[in-house]
Amino acid sequence: MPLTLLTVPCLTDNYAFVIGNLETNEAALIDVPDSAPINQAIAQKGWRLTTVLLTHHHNDHIQGLDGLDRRSELKVVGADADAHRLPPLDQTVAAGDSLTICGERADILDVSGHTNGHIAFYFPQSELLFSADSLMALGCGRLFEGTPAKMWDSLQKLRALPRSTTVCSGHEYTASNAKFALSLEEDNPALRSRVEDIEKARRANRPTIPSNLGLEIDTNPFLRADVPSLMKAVGMETAAPVDVFTEIRARKDRF
Ligand code: ZN
Ligand code: FE
Repeated sequence: MPLTLLTVPCLTDNYAFVIGNLETNEAALIDVPDSAPINQAIAQKGWRLTTVLLTHHHNDHIQGLDGLDRRSELKVVGADADAHRLPPLDQTVAAGDSLTICGERADILDVSGHTNGHIAFYFPQSELLFSADSLMALGCGRLFEGTPAKMWDSLQKLRALPRSTTVCSGHEYTASNAKFALSLEEDNPALRSRVEDIEKARRANRPTIPSNLGLEIDTNPFLRADVPSLMKAVGMETAAPVDVFTEIRARKDRF
């Protein structure tokens, strides 16, 4: 049975995610923007939270940790490379490592770019990807620490996962990302229909997160820097994909 996914809205526009194994009642949490909504979501399910997985060091992804119920019993996992600026870790991990979480294998991917040391957690069996502020719905995180080349490399790794993967990213930025994506690829039919769905969801106050990797591949400009139609849209038909990505990221920063 695949893991059950809860999307927990936190703060203004953050998301935390809880995964639960319905056979064992065991649950794990990915990122901790806040504690109260997470405690409530887990209590409502009657799950037993055992593990907290941290994607990167930004405050809006870790600051709720000490407010979690039964805090002292939780195992906190984060990147070895970021251990000096994350809360105290019970287990450090690096790219290429695999863990068992809620009875399933989780692979650790280095997705640096937004920060150096940002990791993603990929659960192949349940086809869940927790990408936080690397790959986002119709976007990618701002480059606070890494280079465009580093982020492009990270995104290519994620793009190589199965299209059926569910993409759990860290923020509700999708509507503004959609405006930017449309400014580049107004004629992309997959993008146009996705934007309609996004507008519908936001009008009903529903999250647009998680999304689907296949849909991201077809519509997210930051995954499309080597797709001829997008290269043409930015006037860089013969450029190297990394340069196209750099240009798209710079345009988004100014948008
Ligand atoms: Zn961040
Ligand atoms: Fe964030």
